[in-house]
Amino acid sequence: MIGAGGVATVAAFKIAQNADVFTEFMIASRRKAKCDKIVEDIHKAGYKLDIKTAQVDADDVEQLKALFNDYKPELVINLALPYQDLTIMDACLACGCNYLDTANYEPKDEAHFEYSWQWAYRERFEKAGLTAILGCGFDPGVTSIYTAYAAKHHFKEIQYLDIVDCNAGDHHKAFATNFNPEINIREITQKGLYWEDGKWVETEPLEIHKDLTYPEIGPKDSYLLHHEEIESLVINYPTIKRARFWMTFGQQYLKHLEVIQNIGMSRIDEVEYEAPLADGSGVARVKIVPLQFLKAVLPNPQDLGENYEGQTSIGCRIRGIGNDGKEHTYYVYNNCSHRAAYEETGMQGVSYTTGVPAMIGAMMFCKGLWNTPGVHNVEEFDPDPFMEQLNKQGLPWHEIHDGDLEL
Ligand code: NDP
Repeated sequence: MIGAGGVATVAAFKIAQNADVFTEFMIASRRKAKCDKIVEDIHKAGYKLDIKTAQVDADDVEQLKALFNDYKPELVINLALPYQDLTIMDACLACGCNYLDTANYEPKDEAHFEYSWQWAYRERFEKAGLTAILGCGFDPGVTSIYTAYAAKHHFKEIQYLDIVDCNAGDHHKAFATNFNPEINIREITQKGLYWEDGKWVETEPLEIHKDLTYPEIGPKDSYLLHHEEIESLVINYPTIKRARFWMTFGQQYLKHLEVIQNIGMSRIDEVEYEAPLADGSGVARVKIVPLQFLKAVLPNPQDLGENYEGQTSIGCRIRGIGNDGKEHTYYVYNNCSHRAAYEETGMQGVSYTTGVPAMIGAMMFCKGLWNTPGVHNVEEFDPDPFMEQLNKQGLPWHEIHDGDLEL
């Protein structure tokens, strides 16, 4: 596994809990000390799996190749940042390793994500007999698998898909992001995008919003965003007439975001800055990226868990033609408690809802259930064994048939 952040910590705990499937395991990241700390916490919690750790810069294909050739992993679980997807895929191809991630590639200098960069590796993975599993977190990930499950069991034709993501938690900080702040702010400040009648429709950032009612939570203002799973789902389910993604934000969060943007702190280009040298001997002109600097001063998402109350609720609201030829609606979702996630893994619910599916995807691969050479989005695999594991591994799902979808 590459990365030692919030999501990686959860995935590592869950891997240690499933030591019958994962018999050998290594955590490698930019800072080895963070990997060692995860192992220490896992062993303190009573899990016995022997876990190796290593330092690696995942931007550097040669370093990755040296590590993979030495450790010889069957599967590389990429839980670093989206910037590293392609270097890790290159190293996997060079060393004969299979691959899994939770977020699609983004270039560092452009806030833009799409699958084309990773889909371009299809033929190479296929020819090498290697499997790459893309987008195996919650959204993308579980939401895509929910859609595949609905298509397999409940619908002849899915026509309308709305993915709804609510975080009704309170971490008692004025402003913090729930996963890597740089990636999170880049995602939210982009233009909105959704699929309708065979084409993409663009909106201004956070332009479209409405109250949606979430189970056990109630109504929350939900904003239409562009989200990566829509891109593959409309291709894999061509009967979809409209596909959208909604996420809740509180007024306090949006106010801070507006200020951050207005004062230039969400910029991703380099600015020159005159900084005093640490030894006091003078000054140096350095280049900094404001959003990266902001990340350094914001609360670390990994430290939010302790006082986090409330829960997340993420699911798919689907309308279409059922197996009986009549129109039906279907809502499948999971609610996850931040406190329960923290008590189990030391991390909050957003890391938990991403790290658990990453482990399950790896389990699917290791058990030979999701093992098809090529580059695949998760909805291309059989959803049933994955759905079964969600119930066993801490993310149980619930269904509402023929309810009011509000959308
Ligand atoms: P964090 O920032 O907490 O963790 C990222 C980890 O990657 C850190 O340990 C970091 O090192 C390490 N890293 C960064 N750059 C490199 C590098 N060049 N070489 C080696 N290691 C590196 O992020 P999260 O845990 O919150 O998120 C992890 C991934 O999960 C992201 O890609 C994010 O987009 C994705 N995600 C997916 C979701 C989904 O539902 N699909 C939801 C939430 C997140 P260091 O500790 O030294 O900084």
